[in-house]
Amino acid sequence: MITFNAAPFVGTEFDYMKQAIESHKICGDGKFTKQCDAWMEKRFNAKKVMLTTSGSTALDMAMMLCGIKPGDEVILPSYTFSSTANAAVLVGAKLVFVDIRPDTMNIDEKKIEAAITDKTKAIIPVHYAGVSCEMDTIMDIAKRYDLMVVEDAAQGVMSSYKGKALGTIGDFGCYSFHETKNYSMGEGGAIVINKEEYIEKAEILREKGTNRSKFFRGQVDKYSWVDFGDSYLPSDLNAAYLWAQLEVADQINNNRLASWNKYYQALKPLAEAGLTELPVIPGECTHNAHMFYIKLPDLESRTEFISFMKDNGIQTVFHYVPLHSAPAGLKYGRFAGEDRYTTKESERLVRLPMFYGISDSDSDKVIAKILEFFDKEF
Ligand SMILES: *Cc1c(COP(=O)(O)O)cnc(C)c1O
Repeated sequence: MITFNAAPFVGTEFDYMKQAIESHKICGDGKFTKQCDAWMEKRFNAKKVMLTTSGSTALDMAMMLCGIKPGDEVILPSYTFSSTANAAVLVGAKLVFVDIRPDTMNIDEKKIEAAITDKTKAIIPVHYAGVSCEMDTIMDIAKRYDLMVVEDAAQGVMSSYKGKALGTIGDFGCYSFHETKNYSMGEGGAIVINKEEYIEKAEILREKGTNRSKFFRGQVDKYSWVDFGDSYLPSDLNAAYLWAQLEVADQINNNRLASWNKYYQALKPLAEAGLTELPVIPGECTHNAHMFYIKLPDLESRTEFISFMKDNGIQTVFHYVPLHSAPAGLKYGRFAGEDRYTTKESERLVRLPMFYGISDSDSDKVIAKILEFFDKEF
């Protein structure tokens, strides 16, 4: 079976995890956590990056740091993972879903303004497939209406928009290092803090409400409980696993891009013949080959496609049943405007096997079977 994902592994993970164990320092904010944070700050030109226990908790932290209160409204796409919405629900916000663009599957920046009310406090653009949302337009709207912007860049590590790393454009950015993402620590994530004024607040929130980070830097002579907080720092064991991959981040990125480009070139004739649609990467965006998807004409043909591929030993998956039609979406949110593309496009999309180190023979087989399917069906 060719799986649609395989957790990234480069070989040095064992050595770094052994080092962490032998140092007898496996709690949070140890050597490897600090190395990961510093690497991302430098590479992404970010003011502050802190590893968290997941992309979901990074989003939770960001929503809390935005100061959102019960009854406030948060704008987000309906075509996203539940975590994007959960973070807003956690702080008591009402979800306001905005339609996506059919080309990138990202929130349609042109439809955001009409969804703003006097209760709107924040926008969460989700960079689907590691391809950036139209951030200049979104940041302009946020500025004019005094809204916070939290980038859900869970899939966007190593991607950029007009040369700026995703996650560093809004007030906060959130990364995921889940095993399905480009770089992994099993479960984990990071919050990117782009405004100085939130750094200390974030440290306190992440460290159980204490000013322990300040204490370790020698800025206070004892640490105490100074505000509400929780535990969002991962073990240094997990950070050691991630460090192995960040060290060779370009190698991983180039390998994924090569697989992505191979799919693209091989399937282009199908798209040109109008049989399928391929991902669109706008000119301002540099992507990280997080996923490769194709679009079938409709739900029925997609179901046939998935079962044909399965019968041939290839796992392909769809995802994101739109949140506004899910039970919790109905409870916590509303769709602003017309659902022109969210449902329709989500029903047509299917993801192909795409991961670091996928073999040429496997991707050849995936391509051959896709061509066979279209030859037979259309
Ligand atoms: C993976 C993902 C998350 C959640 O990240 P976890 O690390 O699994 O908690 C949030 N949003 C999006 C868009 C994701 O793809």
